[in-house]
Amino acid sequence: MADRNLLFLDIPRTEPARRPVELRIGDFREIYAPVDPRSAAQQAGRCLGCGNPFCEWKCPVHNYIPDWLKLIEQGKLFEAAELSHQTNSLPEMCGRICPQDRLCEGACTLNDGLGAVTIGSIEAYITDEALKAGWKPDMSHVRPTGKRVAIVGAGPAGLGCADILVRHGVEPVVFDRYPRIGGLLTFGIPPFKLDKEVVETRRALLEEMGVEFRLGVEIGRDLEFATLLADYDAVFLGMGTYTSVKGELPGERLPGVVEALPYLVSNINRELGLAAGGGPFIDLKGQRVVVLGGGDTAMDCNRTAIRQGAASVTCTYRRDEENMPGSRRDFKNSRDEGVAFLFNRQPVAILGGERVRGVEVVETRLGAPGPRGRRLVEPIPGSEEIIEADAVLVAFGFLPSPPAWLGSHDIEVHANGRVRVTTLGPRRFATTNPKVFAGGDMVRGSDLVVTAVFEGREAAGGMLEFLGVAPAVRAA
Ligand code: FAD
Ligand code: SF4
Repeated sequence: MADRNLLFLDIPRTEPARRPVELRIGDFREIYAPVDPRSAAQQAGRCLGCGNPFCEWKCPVHNYIPDWLKLIEQGKLFEAAELSHQTNSLPEMCGRICPQDRLCEGACTLNDGLGAVTIGSIEAYITDEALKAGWKPDMSHVRPTGKRVAIVGAGPAGLGCADILVRHGVEPVVFDRYPRIGGLLTFGIPPFKLDKEVVETRRALLEEMGVEFRLGVEIGRDLEFATLLADYDAVFLGMGTYTSVKGELPGERLPGVVEALPYLVSNINRELGLAAGGGPFIDLKGQRVVVLGGGDTAMDCNRTAIRQGAASVTCTYRRDEENMPGSRRDFKNSRDEGVAFLFNRQPVAILGGERVRGVEVVETRLGAPGPRGRRLVEPIPGSEEIIEADAVLVAFGFLPSPPAWLGSHDIEVHANGRVRVTTLGPRRFATTNPKVFAGGDMVRGSDLVVTAVFEGREAAGGMLEFLGVAPAVRAA
């Protein structure tokens, strides 16, 4: 019989099957097939159970990874689900969309040549399958405290915060301007990465646990922030970052030049059959599309345009492939699905008359490290070229978008617009207004789902201390 500690030698890393390219580019459904119990147990069994698991340290919520892998190997699905929820409020989503190559799987000891354990797909499998089999979070020990907290924003930060509060007997009421929960999980990340039913299933679960959602309510427009301060014992802000970075390029306002998020949201609204809240449907069928940028948002634009039937999609990025910030998995999927990548190209102008007809780019090389340690981009004189285009999608990232009313409630922001919070002491993530806490992208800048979840949970720990409910409870 094989030594079970050496299973990783007999069983190779096997990722979940992907739907064939020619099928998946014809729709917006998730591309990965569900994991079956046998393969989940086999893959989980590859874990070495390292004494000091680097994967746990590298995971932003510090999941008990080797422990729930062991439970899955033993077929103990419900125990694994309960354990997985001790540290993560949205494990089925993080398992799908975390950049695991940079986080848990990148830190796996087996990543050194033998193939990391497929931590992400097993994490998603645990909650997906447990919920199907009737598992529910154990709330039997929860006693109501009579405290009520308002949460502004139903994105990952707000949901992480609500999850911890409700598990401690505090009543969370979550406000969001959108008609569905999820923030960018719903209105940003495309359905081929995260099926929106997964978010709706989580909503039902949270509601059953006692979280109340008030959707279609914009704080500061439909309801004054002062009302929340007066009506609730504390307030959490998890409102994200929504100012698109401009390239400041000549021609950026030409018809046919579109910002990434409105483009993605218009497509999601259409897929979900929702009214076009932010603008009309943007259809790139038959067009030559150029995507500017190399992050997750650019990859999502690439793959959405391919699915809409664009004639061609070219993605330009000013650094090289190795330095591209987008997840490796999404880059590979983009390339497999037919996206052409042009690395070391910096856009200098968007060209056109009545509408866009191309992008002028200059070739670049990487120079000496800049003040933040990243090598600077140097344009190579005389290397300009024109890429013809019928549509240009601008995906340069996002800057903070703090609402004006923060200042009138003593909530300070840094010079760059991020909300100022304390990360030390028991009242973690308190803003300069002691009754108000904040977390996620509006605090750390545009980042990841898992870091927003972490900050929402940590802030809930700080709020519990503030409310005198459970002093110094550690959320994670
Ligand atoms: P958000 O998710 O932005 O949620 C904020 C919520 O607050 C929104 O629902 C908004 O409607 C609401 N809100 C704001 N103001 C108000 C108001 N005044 N009143 C009421 N409601 C309000 N991360 C990953 O980990 N993996 C990925 O693959 C990935 N892909 C991405 C793709 C795209 C296109 C984008 C844009 C981001 C991606 N990210 C990804 C980043 C990730 O989505 C964010 O870091 C994360 O969603 C931040 O969570 P949050 O809760 O802070 O904010
Ligand atoms: Fe890995 Fe993300 Fe899951 Fe942590 S939350 S174990 S980083 S997939």
